[in-house]
Amino acid sequence: MWLQTAAGTWVQITAIDDAHRSQKVHNLTVEGQHTYFVLAGNAPVLVHNAKRDRTDPEAVCPIGPYAAESIPARSKSQKFDESPGGERDQINEIGSRFGCHTCGIIFPFGSKKGYVPDHQPISSWVPDGFPQRLYSQCIDCSRKQAGWARQLAPVMLPSYERIAKEMGL
Ligand SMILES: [Zn+2]
Repeated sequence: MWLQTAAGTWVQITAIDDAHRSQKVHNLTVEGQHTYFVLAGNAPVLVHNAKRDRTDPEAVCPIGPYAAESIPARSKSQKFDESPGGERDQINEIGSRFGCHTCGIIFPFGSKKGYVPDHQPISSWVPDGFPQRLYSQCIDCSRKQAGWARQLAPVMLPSYERIAKEMGL
């Protein structure tokens, strides 16, 4: 099994110590953070607590469980086609049918609360020219994702750069 380090490189688990003994152990909880780096020898390794909720990166960063339809993204730009039937309308229409792709909340089409077109994969994680699609996301999930996206970009960008290379982009 391989784990990714803070530098985007990989370390292999060489042994698992399956110990059976009585010993005082300490559970590490970082308030407000479920995901953080620990040092395995000299290698910083990303770990996360087993309990996951909507604030975890694995809950708000990937394509969510409510994702149904999406539209192709023209670029990483946050400027969307606002004309009738354009990107903004299409994303709101998809959202009004299937909900926020992350949490499932549904605002009726035409209501004041609309959806944010969410680039997948996340724009700060991929090199320019990487294929992305737009999914409907509510503003709450979008804000939570933005924090994690920034924090994890130094780890994720090198991974996607490797993927892009393998894809011949
Ligand atoms: Zn949501």
